[in-house]
Amino acid sequence: MIRTRFAPSPTGFMHIGNLRTALYAYLFAKKHKGKFILRIEDTDRERYVEGAVDAIYATLRKAGIFHDEGPDVGGGYGPYIQSQRKDIYMEYALKLIERGGAYYCFCDKERLGSLADEKGVKRYDKHCLKLSKKEVQDKLDAGEEFVIRQNMPTEGLSSYEDMVFGKITVPNDELEDNILIKVDGMPTYNFANVVDDHLMGITHVIRGTEYLSSTPKYNLIYEAMGWQTPNYMHLPPIMKDQKRKLSKRYGDANFEDFLNKGYLPHAIVNYIALLGWSPKDNQEKLSMQELIDAFDIDGISKSPSIFDEQKMKWLNAQYIRELTLEEFHDIALSYYQKMDLVDKFDTLKLSQLLHGRCEVFSDIYNSVDFLTEFGDFDLGLYYHKRMKTDFKAAKPLIEEALKALKEIEFTTDSIMDALTRISEKMGVKKGQTMYSVRVALTGRASTPGGAIEMAELLGKDESLRRLKKSLEMIKKAEHKL
Ligand code: GLU
Repeated sequence: MIRTRFAPSPTGFMHIGNLRTALYAYLFAKKHKGKFILRIEDTDRERYVEGAVDAIYATLRKAGIFHDEGPDVGGGYGPYIQSQRKDIYMEYALKLIERGGAYYCFCDKERLGSLADEKGVKRYDKHCLKLSKKEVQDKLDAGEEFVIRQNMPTEGLSSYEDMVFGKITVPNDELEDNILIKVDGMPTYNFANVVDDHLMGITHVIRGTEYLSSTPKYNLIYEAMGWQTPNYMHLPPIMKDQKRKLSKRYGDANFEDFLNKGYLPHAIVNYIALLGWSPKDNQEKLSMQELIDAFDIDGISKSPSIFDEQKMKWLNAQYIRELTLEEFHDIALSYYQKMDLVDKFDTLKLSQLLHGRCEVFSDIYNSVDFLTEFGDFDLGLYYHKRMKTDFKAAKPLIEEALKALKEIEFTTDSIMDALTRISEKMGVKKGQTMYSVRVALTGRASTPGGAIEMAELLGKDESLRRLKKSLEMIKKAEHKL
């Protein structure tokens, strides 16, 4: 059975690149009716961030990526948190020493610091490999601090077949005797990933290309232990542009950043699935099940992909259109709450107007901020080329609107009647009245609905107040002219 894993380090919010790795590992496992495992790689205590493990669970859940085994759901291969597996790593490190694949190293910082070659490159010189068994035992008995290092071959080549990149070969003399177990007894990634992937029965290791060239080192451990190496799929990075990686600095690196901007979780997942992989028929909008069915390694690209937020917005807009009004409204409510609109306006009506217009939910802020903010605005907004109108032409129409709207009880029909009659009376096109009144009501050239809808939304008192204020603004401007 195929078993894949996602092995994040709990160092903060989930990076989009990591989420894509998780997604591909999940899709590949599910496509082949296999299991997807979550393992928390927390052996680097310095980079550990409180709460980050919970953020990993929450992100995966929101993204619809469900693990079959993991710290929270259990499974037959636990524990799934590396810091709880310390003894296991030590046990296997000792076995590796017995097999000649590793050795104790007692060198102190000073000695290590003096190892720089003429180019300034510090490389361990296998000094402690020369210690006899007795010398090692004496040092251990004396309680000397130690690390355990991998014993790399010094000649020949190591190679393996990557499922995405093909054959990868490195000369062994380039491989350093990496530390496998640190002074504190904790393993490094170099060792823990091998022990865990082996013991957890991982058949396909799917991870970023930063591990592409160090994988031969890991394979040497598998071989020294007499274990079968897994299959590897290394994934190229996701970039902001040709040169820059996505980074926290630009606020566009984390899954959470995009949720906060008002993207739907599956729209993000759908988009990142296509970053670095394309389905055979080039379909762009896919449900999770469709992604699972369509996923195949042939579609994975070797080159870095560029994150195009416009494209993701386009996809998100499609998903928003598919929501029912109720679903849209449920999500939009939290935005209305933040804008303090809830007790003041008919928010369901607002949702009706916005549902077809938002690409991301945060568009709500700009679309309706005029509801709570109405100050002086640029009279140039009354200018409309096609309707041949401007603020001077708008003035009598606004005056008429003020008179007419005062007299009526506000309903869609009554507002429409009143405004239509103004156009007839003044002999102007209906659109001109509607446009002028809408600008006067909102101070915006573009609003999520026409004059009637805006008046209805604002209510009678507020509409009249705004029309009055807009008229005053025009009068003041005329006075100055
Ligand atoms: N903890 C490693 C990381 O977050 C995992 C790499 C792997 O998947 O082996 O980069």
